[in-house]
Amino acid sequence: MRLINNLYIIFLGAPGSGKGTQAAYVAQKLNLVHIASGNLLRQAVEQGTELGRQTRSYMEEGVLVPDPISIRIVLERMSAPDCESGVILDGFPRNLKQAETLDKVLAREAKAIDKVVYIKVSEKGLIKRLSGRWVCRSCQTPYHIISSPPKVWGKCDRCGGELYQRPDDTMEAVKKRLEVYFAETVPLIDYYTRADKLVEIDGEGGVDEVGKRIVAALQAEKVCG
Ligand code: ADP
Ligand code: ZN
Repeated sequence: MRLINNLYIIFLGAPGSGKGTQAAYVAQKLNLVHIASGNLLRQAVEQGTELGRQTRSYMEEGVLVPDPISIRIVLERMSAPDCESGVILDGFPRNLKQAETLDKVLAREAKAIDKVVYIKVSEKGLIKRLSGRWVCRSCQTPYHIISSPPKVWGKCDRCGGELYQRPDDTMEAVKKRLEVYFAETVPLIDYYTRADKLVEIDGEGGVDEVGKRIVAALQAEKVCG
């Protein structure tokens, strides 16, 4: 896979849309760094850092952590040397304030977001996907008890790590996360449509099927060869 230029791609989609899985898949194909804000924040919680202590309760409840925290943690990661040839952002930005800040910061370096991949799935499937989800404690790879089970129950195929259910995958927190998504994140679809950056992908179907659709769409947009 050949890159046309340095790429800044955002993956947008509801919790449970499969955006994390697809972001990881496409990042590997295009040889880009995958930055998942939720993973960065969960790592901070696991490590018990000051930042982790500040964010834990928000995350368990399913609401957004304060903008200054999410913005700082993502921008810090983006400024690492391995991100120089571009990144895939997954879970960030999640509201207008974050999107505007990101645009400003990139503009300062004469960079810009190239494309926003919006993974569209029906609302009905979301709760089902989230409630069967198990995640690797070490590398954060997500599995699903029905649609993508691990080879050995409880163990990560990739790294052998232990699988666990996220505390915010409870029914109550899932409902909250979806509420927050519709209220705060959905306006970004409009924001990036107006900027002529949105690429809408049908997110129904298997992991490979959706992944191929995304790569084909990015090729059609001349983002990669
Ligand atoms: P999902 O997309 O499945 O809800 P994530 O791992 O992306 O899962 O996010 C989990 C939680 O982390 C969110 O519910 C929120 O509390 C926090 N979080 C992640 N990204 C952001 C962000 N950009 N801004 C604020 N909070 C965030
Ligand atoms: Zn793993």
